[in-house]
Amino acid sequence: MTFRWKLFASYVLLAVVMAMAFYFQASRLLEGRIIDESRQFLLNESRLAMMTYEHLFKSWPAQQIAEQLGSGTRSRVTLIARDGRVIADSDVKPDQIASLENHRNRPEVQQALASGSGSAVRYSDTLRVNMLYVAISGNNGDGTVLRLALPLKSLDSAKKSLNAMLAGAFAALLVLAMALSAILSNLTSRPLRAMAEAAARFGAGEHGVRMPVHGKDEIGYLGQVLNQMAGRLEEQMSRLASERQRLDAILHGMGEGVMVLDTAGTITLINPALRGQLAIAGAVEGKGLVEVCRHPDLLQAYQEHRENGGEVFGEVALPDGKTYLSTHWVPLGDRQGTVAVFHDISELKRIETIRKDFVANVSHELRTPVAVIKGYAETLLDGALEESGERSRNFVAVIAEHAERLTNLINDVLALSRLEGKEAVLDLKPVDLSGTIQKSAKLLEEHARSKGIGLEMDLPAQLPEVMADQAQMEQVLLNLLDNAIKYTRSGGRISLTAVESAENIIISVSDTGVGIPEKDIARIFERFYRVDEGRSREQGGTGLGLAIVKHIVQQHGGQISVESELGKGSCFTLSIRKI
Ligand code: ADP
Repeated sequence: MTFRWKLFASYVLLAVVMAMAFYFQASRLLEGRIIDESRQFLLNESRLAMMTYEHLFKSWPAQQIAEQLGSGTRSRVTLIARDGRVIADSDVKPDQIASLENHRNRPEVQQALASGSGSAVRYSDTLRVNMLYVAISGNNGDGTVLRLALPLKSLDSAKKSLNAMLAGAFAALLVLAMALSAILSNLTSRPLRAMAEAAARFGAGEHGVRMPVHGKDEIGYLGQVLNQMAGRLEEQMSRLASERQRLDAILHGMGEGVMVLDTAGTITLINPALRGQLAIAGAVEGKGLVEVCRHPDLLQAYQEHRENGGEVFGEVALPDGKTYLSTHWVPLGDRQGTVAVFHDISELKRIETIRKDFVANVSHELRTPVAVIKGYAETLLDGALEESGERSRNFVAVIAEHAERLTNLINDVLALSRLEGKEAVLDLKPVDLSGTIQKSAKLLEEHARSKGIGLEMDLPAQLPEVMADQAQMEQVLLNLLDNAIKYTRSGGRISLTAVESAENIIISVSDTGVGIPEKDIARIFERFYRVDEGRSREQGGTGLGLAIVKHIVQQHGGQISVESELGKGSCFTLSIRKI
């Protein structure tokens, strides 16, 4: 039942109750009024009748007077002696008078005898109808009591017509009340319905909905309060939305993978970085962690976190063998679940592996010269020194050669570690590279000539300057030239050229040497990578020269490449940006 119908029903009920109360009150009042007026009328009539009786009682028989008076007043006339005996009655035959009951105890008679007049309403057994009795006692005659009785039939009919009238009025009133109730309930409930409608729209998420506020009554106040509440809710909702957007933006922009799990181990949030890291596609929110990823390290870390309930750090190695993730599992709030943060440490791992390999390689490289030096030195000490001067000289020459190798190796390792270290700061200045090229060539010219290798240079008259570290660029050219000399046989040629392109200075060092096999070209810039280990060692190479070259060129923002054909020669080309 709607509020409107309840209001309507209560209005109608109120109208019915009031109409009925009015009806009963009105009918009671009217009935009393009719009886009072009838009583007064009968009293007046009875006084007239008494006067007539007192005038006639000596000359007329009592029964005749009663009958005459009865027909004159159109009511029943009874004459009663002071002792209560009925003397005459207009409606009773004379022979039956004597058998009538004594009237002494009738209330109207008693009142008339006591105070001169009396009245009563009573059901008459004789006439079988409700009667109004009025009695008066005479003063001037024989003291007879005269009683007039009137059937209350007229009262009944008056009551009936009154009832009909009231019922009509009642029906009309009811119709009017219903119509008014309908209008009133509609008017009263309209603002409430409007509010309920607005509240429903607000509840459905519509923005900016406000309750209509009419007047300053309770409903108006309710509207105001609801509007204030709606305003505050909207404010909070927009704050939450912007907070959420901010969080989403952070989670989306983060390089770290983030996953939120509830206490049951169901994923509630996962950010794009983690999707990428774990190669997860499609919606996973609402699924269990075990369903989504099966990496044993990850599941074990989660299990550990669940068991001890605290922070857990772990490491996940993905099946591709290259990707490593560090994981950090933290409890979320008070038993709300878990937040896991994943950090890609593959690069760190790679660097760590490189370092380990580097240390292993360096130790390996050091071992041979140190063993040789130690061996030869021990042999010399064990007596070879005294035995033969020629042999000893050879031994010492070998020791010197390996000491030289050790020095080269240590220098190269130091150069490389300086280049990779944080303190590697280039001393950049405008440099004329043709000067640097000439200087490097001059330094190795003699060495090349001693090996029977021709060194040519083809440099333009004017070469624009580049921003470079003079000493480092010299190192690059020396390494390239040294390699070219090392890997070119006697009678070969080395040429050094420099040209200028739109943006760069391009320098090439080419030789007619042994060349590099196709499969090795991609790897010669790696540390300790050698195509022919024996030849490299024989030539005093460390396997680090090209790694140093690549580092320096990259630090200058330049590029280095190589073209080579086995048995025909190699050409190393580097380009450095002009100022
Ligand atoms: P190394 O000290 O052994 O020369 P590098 O790093 O300078 O080490 O060079 C790596 C390898 O590349 C060498 O061992 C050699 O096999 C090859 N290489 C470098 N330069 C040349 C070249 N000009 N001609 C042929 N091979 C070369």
